[in-house]
Amino acid sequence: MDMKRHEFELDDLIKRIKENDNRLVALQVPEGLKMQALEMMDAIEEDTSARIILAADPCYGACDLVHDKMQRMGVELVAHMGHSQMNIDSGMPTEFINVTYDGDPVIDPVLPILSMHREIAERRLSEASSKGEISEEEAQERFMDAVGRVSPLKGAKLGLVGSIQHLHLIFDYKERLESAGFEVEVPVGGARLSFPGQVLGCNYSGDRDDIGHYLFLGSGDFHPIGLVLHTGKPLAMLDPYTGGAEEMSFERIEGILRQRFGLIMACDKAKTFGILIGEKPGQMRRNLALRMKKKLEKHGRKGYLMALEHVGPELIDFYPVDAFVNTACPRIAIDDSVRYAKPLLTPFELEVVLGDKKWETGYKFDEIP
Ligand code: SF4
Repeated sequence: MDMKRHEFELDDLIKRIKENDNRLVALQVPEGLKMQALEMMDAIEEDTSARIILAADPCYGACDLVHDKMQRMGVELVAHMGHSQMNIDSGMPTEFINVTYDGDPVIDPVLPILSMHREIAERRLSEASSKGEISEEEAQERFMDAVGRVSPLKGAKLGLVGSIQHLHLIFDYKERLESAGFEVEVPVGGARLSFPGQVLGCNYSGDRDDIGHYLFLGSGDFHPIGLVLHTGKPLAMLDPYTGGAEEMSFERIEGILRQRFGLIMACDKAKTFGILIGEKPGQMRRNLALRMKKKLEKHGRKGYLMALEHVGPELIDFYPVDAFVNTACPRIAIDDSVRYAKPLLTPFELEVVLGDKKWETGYKFDEIP
């Protein structure tokens, strides 16, 4: 990653610190940008009379705002970098600092993938409109998306999304893709998202029935895996750091679903569950955890509520329960379950274990709204 091509928009933060005459400010920086943290602390301290404390614990999202512990240290303002504001209140005044990357690769490498995906979307759409002429069973088979659901598809538009540091380019890319002959939609999601085209690892709420396939502007497969698990739609990726294009293969998604199903099967006879509640402000789903406990009791099984700031195998593996269900960050169960000695399920997966939801009607991604 070429750090010099990232822009850190510190001006608003410096202005706010000066206006409020803040003396102690906490700086929270995501993992990928931590190497730059000291440089940023220098820049802020040189321009203001504030002292900066780096909140050096791991930080993976705006769900993870530092809160009361910094208040107890006397911090007056939190500067949170590289993520956007969510629909949560950490109880601390917080300034969100935009980080943008100026890489804007050409779209040519991704066009053949997009054309192929548009064909898949159009085929699904025409099969759906001919539904009356085939049997119910055949319809089930034909309209299944990548995660086994019968989804109502009403269009074959290209949905254009990206990770936050590339969103300033999203409407420019929309024009480029339209010039290449695609009908493009930049989806606008719910209250957890701040910008058109934004996706989070736990929220893809901008998805619409008239979007038939997606292009993700960003790097890595974290957001793409979640997007396909959530929407079941074909997805291409264009990486602004390398200019490379690829697709999220349905085989990869199938592999993840096989693993999830294996964990569900492994919990068939499980009697006791640890129910994990995340303490981070944007991950805390206490009511969901209580609902899971009630469900377990209804089915003659036992659930123990366990609250944690960070979730990790070393913190839970030793408890004498048969399995865990996670209500903190949804991606802990999906992406990290191999690290745990016992099955780690999402709430939907627990409901499948208990027979309250059916695996056969398709996978339901655990979204935080
Ligand atoms: S995916 Fe997890 S870490 Fe990322 S914003 Fe959502 S809850 Fe937070």
